[in-house]
Amino acid sequence: MITQQLKDQATRDPMAFGMTYITLPNNIKWEYRQWLPEIYNSINPYNIQNGTDRCRKATIIKSTQSGLTTAGLVKTLHMMAEFDLNVAYSLPRDQDVIDLVRAKLNPIVRNSPYIQGLLGNVDAVKMKQIGSSFLYFMSMTTEPRMLSADAIMNDEIDLSDPNNLATMPNRMDDSDWKLTLNYSTPTIKGYGVDALYAKSCQYEWMVKCPHCGLQQVLDWGRNIEIKGMKLNPDEARYVCRKCRGTMTVEDFAKGEWVAQVPDLVNFHKGYHISQMMFYDPFDLYLHSVDPNSSVQEFYRKRLGVPYSSGNTDINYDWLMDNAVYDDAELDEGRLYIGVDQANTISIVIIMVKGDSIEVVFAEEFENDGWLELDRLLNKHRFSGGVIDADPNRNTATNISKNTDGLIKIADYHTRIKALYKVTRDEEKKVEHVTIRRSQAFDNLMEKIKEGNIYVSSEEGRVPDWARLLFTHIGNLRRDVEENNTALGTEQKITWRHVGPDHLAHALLYALIASFEGGKNQFHVRYSGRKDSDKKDKKKLKKGKGRSVRIR
Ligand SMILES: [Zn+2]
Repeated sequence: MITQQLKDQATRDPMAFGMTYITLPNNIKWEYRQWLPEIYNSINPYNIQNGTDRCRKATIIKSTQSGLTTAGLVKTLHMMAEFDLNVAYSLPRDQDVIDLVRAKLNPIVRNSPYIQGLLGNVDAVKMKQIGSSFLYFMSMTTEPRMLSADAIMNDEIDLSDPNNLATMPNRMDDSDWKLTLNYSTPTIKGYGVDALYAKSCQYEWMVKCPHCGLQQVLDWGRNIEIKGMKLNPDEARYVCRKCRGTMTVEDFAKGEWVAQVPDLVNFHKGYHISQMMFYDPFDLYLHSVDPNSSVQEFYRKRLGVPYSSGNTDINYDWLMDNAVYDDAELDEGRLYIGVDQANTISIVIIMVKGDSIEVVFAEEFENDGWLELDRLLNKHRFSGGVIDADPNRNTATNISKNTDGLIKIADYHTRIKALYKVTRDEEKKVEHVTIRRSQAFDNLMEKIKEGNIYVSSEEGRVPDWARLLFTHIGNLRRDVEENNTALGTEQKITWRHVGPDHLAHALLYALIASFEGGKNQFHVRYSGRKDSDKKDKKKLKKGKGRSVRIR
């Protein structure tokens, strides 16, 4: 029997809403974990409406098995059933949407008569109607649909395409609510959920030692003690980092959320969840030494902490020290051009002679990018070029056509064997190149490391455009994703970016163009050096809408 008092409680508190109206599937019991209520209460429309909470954004950096996906769904249903909010829910891939809806959401609806009763006419995998509001599921493999929402729930953001994810907040332009919840297990430092958490108030679960009273945040290195052999210990227990007295999961339950950056609690709440908060120490320890699982997986999935194996990152400082040669201009060679398109047009020109690849031009154009490209194509005799096919596919295709396939249009693809593959549409006179993204970036970085790709400086002065190029290259991070399959651990290389990286893609395209060679195999001088530098400076003074900035 649901009394008025319970009904009121359910309106005020999303967790009470869940416990009152929702039956979890597979006989999963509603478990009261001490650290959960505050998370359930973040971006709670009831508190925001009555002004007791002003924070509309929350980020959770989490371990697996933390019950947060359930929390996200319950909060979503609370917003819809009690406040008529429309919710957009993002997941990395289509299959993730299908899995979540079939394995979690549909069973919740089926088992919960109250929610079932609110289910409207629209009941599809990607869209549900509850009462008068809608829930839209969006896969981040494509740009989010133009739907209007009051709240966005971004699940597993580290595996979602960052460009599509970045446009999710636009779905809330027409809403006064604008509530955001991000949650994910982390991957690498400074990327995805870790980058968002770093901008939040950074709540950590502080626990108090029952022996000496020290308040502490649980840390794998300092709060666990083992007796016996490494792979077959006699004992594993949690201990106080100071007095080494035993602490239990029950002691941890008495902890509290403490903000590391209290000034931000009204703007962006961030919570970190580690399995140490609720997992048996012996079992968790065995996971940490399991020969079938990596340290990386343990940190990311068990402790909710970003982790990078092997440091293969090439950063800005490294490039300034190692990819700049004084007075090393090639007097002649073959010219190749690479073009990346997004909101801006990024163009890189390289000059190739033997093993040496000198970058002679790298610019990101805010406006008139296509005109600049046209000007460059008319001015120089290129041996070849590659241009990003999207988003302006027609423009790119026309450029390929007009140059009789000298400039090829490019797409990234993971399912090709070689580094890249060229096909020609004889009818349209368009050449198309498919590039295996991760392996191609590995190849590019290898060439940079070996010193084969460089910029020439004049009397030690590094051109500004080269600094921008190095910033973009330095924003790339190599990551190795690990998936456990029945046949063993599968490794997948991914290059992620922590800031703008357009010029790095343009450089990669130019490099791929040089591998392919192209039909005009003549040596030329790069005529852009002295003369056009002066011209460019004049142009800048006139302010012809040409700008380069480091963002
Ligand atoms: Zn102690």
